[in-house]
Amino acid sequence: MDEADNGCVRVRGAREHNLKNVSVDIPRDALVVFTGVSGSGKSSLAFGTIYAEAQRRYFESVAPYARRLIEQAGVPAVDRIDGLPPAVALQQSRGGGGTRSTVGSLSTLSNALRMLYSRAGDYPPGQALLESDAFSPNTPAGACPDCHGLGKVFDATEASMVPDPSLSIRERAVACWPQGWQGKNYRDILTTLGYDVDRPWRELPQEQRDWILFTDEQPVVPVYRDVAPDVAQAAYARGEPCNYKGTYVSARAYVMHSFAQSESAAIKQRVARYMVARPCPACGGRRLRPEALSVTFGGHDIAHASGLPLRELARQLRATLDGMSTRDDGHPEKALVAARIVADVGARIDTLVELGLGYLSLERSTPTLSPGELQRLRLATQLQAQLFGVVYVLDEPSAGLHPADTEALLRALARLKAGGNSVFVVEHELEVIRAADWLVDIGPGAGTQGGEVLYAGPLAGLADCAASETRRYVFDEAKPAARTPREPSGWLRFEAITRNNVDGLDVAFPLGVMTAVTGVSGAGKSSLVSQALVELVGRALGAAPAAEEEGDELPGETVAPAGGRIVEGMDKLTRLVTVDQRPIGRTPRSNLATYTGLFDHVRKLFAATPEARRRKFDAGRFSFNVAKGRCVTCEGEGFVSVGLLFLPSVYAPCPACRGSRYNDDTLAVTWNGRHIAEVLALTADDAAGFFGDEVPALARSLATLRDVGLGYLRLGQPATELSGGEAQRIKLATELQRQARGHTLYVLDEPTTGLHPADVDRLMAQLHGLVAAGHSVILVEHDRRVIRACDWMIDLGPGAGDEGGCIVAQGTPAGVAAAGAGITARHLRG
Ligand code: ADP
Ligand code: ADP
Ligand code: ZN
Ligand code: ZN
Repeated sequence: MDEADNGCVRVRGAREHNLKNVSVDIPRDALVVFTGVSGSGKSSLAFGTIYAEAQRRYFESVAPYARRLIEQAGVPAVDRIDGLPPAVALQQSRGGGGTRSTVGSLSTLSNALRMLYSRAGDYPPGQALLESDAFSPNTPAGACPDCHGLGKVFDATEASMVPDPSLSIRERAVACWPQGWQGKNYRDILTTLGYDVDRPWRELPQEQRDWILFTDEQPVVPVYRDVAPDVAQAAYARGEPCNYKGTYVSARAYVMHSFAQSESAAIKQRVARYMVARPCPACGGRRLRPEALSVTFGGHDIAHASGLPLRELARQLRATLDGMSTRDDGHPEKALVAARIVADVGARIDTLVELGLGYLSLERSTPTLSPGELQRLRLATQLQAQLFGVVYVLDEPSAGLHPADTEALLRALARLKAGGNSVFVVEHELEVIRAADWLVDIGPGAGTQGGEVLYAGPLAGLADCAASETRRYVFDEAKPAARTPREPSGWLRFEAITRNNVDGLDVAFPLGVMTAVTGVSGAGKSSLVSQALVELVGRALGAAPAAEEEGDELPGETVAPAGGRIVEGMDKLTRLVTVDQRPIGRTPRSNLATYTGLFDHVRKLFAATPEARRRKFDAGRFSFNVAKGRCVTCEGEGFVSVGLLFLPSVYAPCPACRGSRYNDDTLAVTWNGRHIAEVLALTADDAAGFFGDEVPALARSLATLRDVGLGYLRLGQPATELSGGEAQRIKLATELQRQARGHTLYVLDEPTTGLHPADVDRLMAQLHGLVAAGHSVILVEHDRRVIRACDWMIDLGPGAGDEGGCIVAQGTPAGVAAAGAGITARHLRG
């Protein structure tokens, strides 16, 4: 530590992204909250500068030879940082850890549980003790040999391969067959063999259908192309020369073989659609070898324990332990081992329960968790790691958390601090801001209008900072003017909705108004709204089943369809729009301009310039996704990947185009003095001025982006750089510019995540505008101010997981606050 150490991380001259040469001292061993409107530069300071610099120093210490590469990859733009300890970032990210990653593996609780079963479990007489590996479905020692630990087996059945039996073979009844030549080949072979390819599938005799779908034979058959079936059959009978000889394989063999052997992800994905999953008959879906399943603790096998909600798991383990200590089975050492492991596991589960995650089970796969749940899971794991002298940098840890659970979050952060660490969080939640030891408020606006430290110090001092948007919300949470709720124009009524912990629920949503669905995390809000309601309404509107997730190659992973039916109100709705926080694209090839469609107008403008005409450049020339116009070195990515030995590879700006993505010829064309890469570097705010009213549709696009508070984003901002909240507002803006007719139902899951209260107000103004235009809005929401601004609310609960899924209170927010039962009503009153 250098002599001038004043107990602070001392940042000098930070210029990352929009930061304006920021110098600030931030105390260590404190809870520091970074505040400011979205896009003001909080993350650029906390993550982009402080964490990035700590990370860079770490890389350098472990891999000095990589120095040049690291610098190429981007050193944070800052003059110096002193007094900086090692840092750990807990960022919001979805998924993570691959499809086999679970709550149990990420928290390492599964390891402990395996140890418990291995050392302290009850074995059947005569069975040897098993190593703890033998209790893991992901090891050869543990995995059920029949399903390789997946718990399910995949198969292709008549129903899965022939979804529409009213079609004939010629009409593609056997839907799993490949398109094009190969599919036609199979049909021609069947024709030669005398099958009637023009009869509806269901009228074919069962033994013919079975042969076509399931035969093990692989006959080689003469094929007569492009002739009528009877001609082909007659030619075959007479042994006439054929066009070629084709080999037949059954449809099932084709599907199974393609799935197992194909190198192409696209083919795997295609055939996976014609397979079904069913529980593995050998292990009953429990994924383990019979020996492992025969070992019990408290009468249950480890698969059962992994499926329990954590809260219940801890309770059962402790109860079993109590039983052991009062029983003498001649193995006192077992009780000792059990006592130690159960104490450890119990304490760790308690932390998870405290952080509002007690409803999760160990076997729950992490890709199905929300980003907020995942971050809190990582937080709990860090609490267990008991590091010392570290800076933790967190991104809105309150996301998805009911205000009733915020106190537990604050206790967890206090424990990290008490362990001798610094805790830096980017947050909007007022309760967290009020608990800060030190505040760093960034602003005053977003993008180029932000990037300055407006205030740094204890909370109270913020009161004197006139320029701060945060100040208004922290100090005068002015009671909003009492508003009269709108009257519903009708009701959307459901019966017997079933999904996850929502079981047979009857519920009605008012139409033509704004409704909030509330409840503690895990109560079932997403299950009810984002899953069941969206699915049922979508189906009723004749939409394709929920948008397919990218890259999902495992067949049968799709959850069972939501149960329930709509009994009233569908006649009023014409459209359903979900505006979620899912990324708008996973590659830098998708960006703000391409996603909203405004890039099409820009490219047309460029193609219409005299210079482009002279060079015969069309609009496609100005897309970095099309070969002719883009840089050949990076193929329009603007970045090249640099491999680092032992470390994840990093991206560095393309040396050929210096990150512009285009080749020089393309860049020679300008519109009003700027070339296409310069236009992509403009913010939406600047672009609005630059293009003016030249193209009305373009002007409208830019105006809506600015209306939802995204004027600070660059047109070329890659989708991968956008936060979930920004992605959501881009989707909203794209919707708003459509100017929908009819009656649209908008569904938003936690739209305020990542938004400063000032941005929340702006978002709400937009949503109220939609309702005023005759549409309906349903929000899943925790924010008290947002709930109060709704016309109606439905509170789910009373608890999480099995203890939730019911309606606790519903009515106008004022009515629920005054008379309603449950945590949310209390919170609204408070
Ligand atoms: P906040 O965390 O306050 O919402 P950010 O620090 O994320 O704000 O963003 C501040 C500014 O920096 C915004 O104008 C944003 O568009 C820009 N920005 C963010 N990430 C990047 C990036 N990876 N590259 C370039 N600009 C970025
Ligand atoms: P909320 O939105 O109120 O936080 P959720 O609807 O996400 O609650 O969760 C309700 C219950 O359903 C929880 O017990 C949760 O673990 C379970 N659940 C939610 N999504 C899934 C899923 N994809 N797979 C399995 N269980 C789920
Ligand atoms: Zn099995
Ligand atoms: Zn390039």
